[in-house]
Amino acid sequence: MAKIATFYPKVGYPDTWKDYSKVDIRRDAFFENGIAARKFAMRDDVAQIGKPTDRSRWGLSAPTSDAAYNPLLNTIEFPAGILQPPAFDVNAIDAVNYGAIGVVIGHEISHGFDDEGAQFDFLGRLRNWWTDADLKAFQERGACVADQFEGYFIEKDIHHNGKLVLGESIGDLGGAKVAYLAFRKSMEGKPRPADVDGFTPEQQFFLAWGQFRGDETRPETQRLMVQSDPHPIAKYRVIGPLSNLPEFQKAWSCKADAPMVRAPDKRCEVW
Ligand SMILES: [Zn+2]
Repeated sequence: MAKIATFYPKVGYPDTWKDYSKVDIRRDAFFENGIAARKFAMRDDVAQIGKPTDRSRWGLSAPTSDAAYNPLLNTIEFPAGILQPPAFDVNAIDAVNYGAIGVVIGHEISHGFDDEGAQFDFLGRLRNWWTDADLKAFQERGACVADQFEGYFIEKDIHHNGKLVLGESIGDLGGAKVAYLAFRKSMEGKPRPADVDGFTPEQQFFLAWGQFRGDETRPETQRLMVQSDPHPIAKYRVIGPLSNLPEFQKAWSCKADAPMVRAPDKRCEVW
């Protein structure tokens, strides 16, 4: 609770803009531009040494289409670049925004409580704040998720490394669950939103996650990701967390033996 209470959310762009005027960028120098940008970022980082911690500093630039959690600062970031379709649309219905950017927000929050983030306390110090019993139960629940992803194959004989993708997968599982709970809460005391194209609001929520997160990835890239990327491939970032959620099964009236329903003894729940 203390850790949640000290979360520092950053949305859109920083309060103080960085001064990029000394970065030399030219239209005909792609490589040199990259070097100049890296030099700027390095000097900007080095300039922080010896100064008090500045939690308002951003790790991502405003146009970046990404989001982040920083365990050392206990901050979450959502730059302007991701706050547009398909992640967020001010004109979209709530189900779609909760199912896309809502899950992203829940994902970044959950990083504070994944296998790595959970090792940092509410002030970003690397130290154990868990009781022995809680830590043991947490690790057991994480092992369920790692086992689940070990079973996801890219092609014959090549499958995900459960431990490598554990943090991201705990993030997706916790994120989907907390965003769904938030969506349900947002509907309380209001007239029920209309179905769209025959899909209920609950179904639209889960569709939105699939439409936002799903993508095409070449087999070569998938092989590289399996070996080195802490993120699972998009397909399993959709199938993995949703097949653990009883809420998904209920929304789609799935039978107990449906492919998107993990058996109760295999169902993972970390948070
Ligand atoms: Zn993540």
